[in-house]
Amino acid sequence: MRAVDIIIKKRDRQELSHEEIKFFVEGIANSSIPDYQVSAWAMAILLNGMTDQETTDLTLAIANSGEVLDLSGSVPIEVDKHATGGVGDKTTLVVEPIVSACGLPVGKMSGRGLGFTGGTLDKIESIPGFRTDLTQEEFIRLLKDEGLVLAGQSGDLAPADGKLYALRDVTGTVQSIPLIASSVMSKKIAGGARGIVLDVKVGNGAFMKNLEEARQLSRLMVTIGRLSGRKVVALLSDMNQPLGKAVGNSLEVKEAIDTLNSKGPADFTEHCLVVASHMLLIGEKVSDLENGRRMAEAALHERKGLDQFRKLVQNQGGDVRYVDHPELFPLAPVIREVESPQEGYLGMVDALTIGETSVEMGAGRSRKEDRIDHRVGIIVHHKVGDFVRKGERLFTLHASSEDSYAHARERLLKACDWQNTPVDPLPLFYEVIQ
Ligand code: URA
Repeated sequence: MRAVDIIIKKRDRQELSHEEIKFFVEGIANSSIPDYQVSAWAMAILLNGMTDQETTDLTLAIANSGEVLDLSGSVPIEVDKHATGGVGDKTTLVVEPIVSACGLPVGKMSGRGLGFTGGTLDKIESIPGFRTDLTQEEFIRLLKDEGLVLAGQSGDLAPADGKLYALRDVTGTVQSIPLIASSVMSKKIAGGARGIVLDVKVGNGAFMKNLEEARQLSRLMVTIGRLSGRKVVALLSDMNQPLGKAVGNSLEVKEAIDTLNSKGPADFTEHCLVVASHMLLIGEKVSDLENGRRMAEAALHERKGLDQFRKLVQNQGGDVRYVDHPELFPLAPVIREVESPQEGYLGMVDALTIGETSVEMGAGRSRKEDRIDHRVGIIVHHKVGDFVRKGERLFTLHASSEDSYAHARERLLKACDWQNTPVDPLPLFYEVIQ
């Protein structure tokens, strides 16, 4: 088999066989297929799509490109969550410690920033020393002994996803339902999770721009889960405006720590409690969502989630002083407010523009070898529906230079619009698919 023939076949809209997909994915994992061919293949998939069978084959091939953990002998049931990428989405950093504090083991394989969205690995690495490149043995040991582990796919698990993900990020090939579904589900399958809560983002700051696309992606992932013997539930959540206030790596970690101290933004806290309740239900810790909610709230308010987060940082080599004293995180050199140029009800706080601006400021990558500036980002002070006065602050920018601040300010003022009549707030969730 030759990689070029498989690319041509997909370019010509033909269905790839199980063997062809396996060959290509193995070539990605062992680097025998060069980046330019992988990128061309990803673009052909983005443009021409895949059948459900091809997507399932792709998912399993990616999951099998490294070790596939069997955790049945280590923990009774392991649950996990995964979001499809958003702006200001630091949910993992709050939900996983809360659920783990409720007695349900959580082993999480996270990704890096992708396109205009942030990634949990980039965020957590704001904490000096935190290691995400764990071996399989370390992953299992931490899961078994500590009930909480947060790793990247850079090690032995789903290595083909790590490589494909990094290329997609910089080749305009993120927004593809089969590529997203296989990327998410391969990591979950390789990580050994039996119960999976998918947080499928919908809106202009998500890869799925409308409910119909989000439903399609959700159904596909739920089906792949079922075919591989996993319990999967998909929550369709809003991403037309950022989640919480902070966008940017260390700013988001600080907001997660605030939230674990019960001092987080209301929308983000609520989002986390809903996701946590679903995880507790799917992990059979509770018999219904109401009880899941009560258990998650108790863990949050009694600071058990915070303790568990602290342990996570300690276990993976991170400096826990940053958890206890978030003021230790280095600050960007330029910190300035952007004020509202007029008064009115906010009709839009555009998540896509905010996400793209934060990447331009250095919080994300434009090329795969780019280094992230963990200090920079945006604090978003208002939500859609809020009434703001002229001169009131809309954003606080944490920028690396005056030029970066000025450019970001200009873009962000275009992210908002002001209405004369009241505007309804946006919902947090739209529907649940299982
Ligand atoms: N999250 C992932 O893990 N992969 C994608 O492709 C998109 C979001």
